[in-house]
Amino acid sequence: MDFTIDPAFQAKLDWMLDFVKAECEPIDLLFPHHGDPYDTGNAQARAIIAPLQEQVKAQGLWACHLDPHLGGAGYGQMKLAYMNEIIGRSYWAPTIFGTAAPDTGNAEILAMFGTAEQKARYLQPLLDGDIVSTFSMTEPQAGADPKEFACRATRDGDEWVIEGYKWFSSNARYASFLIVMAVTDPDAPAHSRMSMLVVPAETPGIEIIRNVGTIGDDPLDDSHGIHGYIHYNQVRVPIDAMLGAPGEGFKVAQARLGGGRVHHAMRTVGRCQRAFEMMQERVVSRRTQGKLLADHQFVQGMIADSAIEIEQFRMLVLKTAWVIDNQPHGAARTLIAMCKVQMAKIYHDVVQRAIQIHGSYGVTNETVLSAMWMSLPSLALADGPTEVHKVQVAKAYTRNASPSDGLFPSEHIPDRLAAVRAKYAAILADPAMEPAL
Ligand SMILES: Cc1cc2nc3c(=O)[nH]c(=O)nc-3n(C[C@H](O)[C@H](O)[C@H](O)COP(=O)(O)OP(=O)(O)OC[C@H]3O[C@@H](n4cnc5c(N)ncnc54)[C@H](O)[C@@H]3O)c2cc1C
Repeated sequence: MDFTIDPAFQAKLDWMLDFVKAECEPIDLLFPHHGDPYDTGNAQARAIIAPLQEQVKAQGLWACHLDPHLGGAGYGQMKLAYMNEIIGRSYWAPTIFGTAAPDTGNAEILAMFGTAEQKARYLQPLLDGDIVSTFSMTEPQAGADPKEFACRATRDGDEWVIEGYKWFSSNARYASFLIVMAVTDPDAPAHSRMSMLVVPAETPGIEIIRNVGTIGDDPLDDSHGIHGYIHYNQVRVPIDAMLGAPGEGFKVAQARLGGGRVHHAMRTVGRCQRAFEMMQERVVSRRTQGKLLADHQFVQGMIADSAIEIEQFRMLVLKTAWVIDNQPHGAARTLIAMCKVQMAKIYHDVVQRAIQIHGSYGVTNETVLSAMWMSLPSLALADGPTEVHKVQVAKAYTRNASPSDGLFPSEHIPDRLAAVRAKYAAILADPAMEPAL
């Protein structure tokens, strides 16, 4: 594996880091609410970010997540890993670079499975950053196990009629279209029971019951909630609104989530690095017991643990990116699950230490650490809970493992010793070969 960065690309990364620090991080302060980057109707925010998006485009760094045959710049996952680390530092940067989730994943599946008409209508404006979209899969009664989904799409002449409820459909209030996973053949085996439908937001019958807020949002003010609790009330779409073939819902969802997860992991590296930079600055700025925090062993332990864990996680993400780029489709499946599990853990541990090192100032709302802390639990849930991915990793490592032949494990020392003694019996029994006392 070669993780070398060529000088021309390094120059791009240097430009990106300066740009994200100077131009994107301040926008996070101006428009800090969940969903602000997705609100295409906010004229102030759009007027401010439009010239920034133009700068990104002029650098050839816009919407780099798609391969050339899908209409993107074709940077590949290795380069994306380095880029997303930088983009991950800022809440707004993904929007300013045209790589905001869930639009990236939705663009990918439109590019992979969409008809020419679907691509023209939805993909191009999505890639241009003119609209945002929603992925509507989770239901109020079931999330981690899609086999429990109940939302139905029933064929009626030339139309599909969608009836059911969806939960946590992020950004539905701002979306121009929603990609809805619905049961189209309830009698089929679980993995071919569902299909994906592309539904324009203006279609009659899409009833947003609530825009659900998350930890940190004021429960008395639902104006900033972005996770749509939706009733698809007899929503009618034409037959050609299907994305992929009937029964391919699982396949389409998997294609989308793999990329999404690894990109989240890449951005998490950047967020951890930012929290770590804050730790580094604080420990050489603050004194206690007559010396700098940096000179106290407990604090040194926190710095060392964070540095080591970030480096380990970064290597895992880079290896995953390399495997996606260089090995057959699907080879990185277990690695992606590892990234998904580990990003929530390392983000938690690093941010927690960063807050601790900042003392009471760490728990104020005067640093980015408070927003980071609020977003921790979501990372272990969105795109599937940690436990489900751990199960996947464990299965990958036990599926082809062989049981031991006898009563004791193959590492049983008495058996191994007997075998090696038998193998060298002649030498061991020869008195002339005995070690001198
Ligand atoms: C910030 C955020 C954004 C999201 N955006 C979207 C979106 O845009 N579109 C969308 O469709 N969904 C979205 N989701 C929903 C997300 O996909 C689900 O939260 C996730 O799949 C888990 O489903 P659930 O919340 O129903 O949890 P459940 O399925 O109820 O699981 C609850 C808990 O049970 C345990 N558990 C579940 N399954 C297993 C298992 N097999 N083995 C062991 N333990 C298990 C885990 O601890 C898990 O956390 C979002 C979630 C968050 C937090």
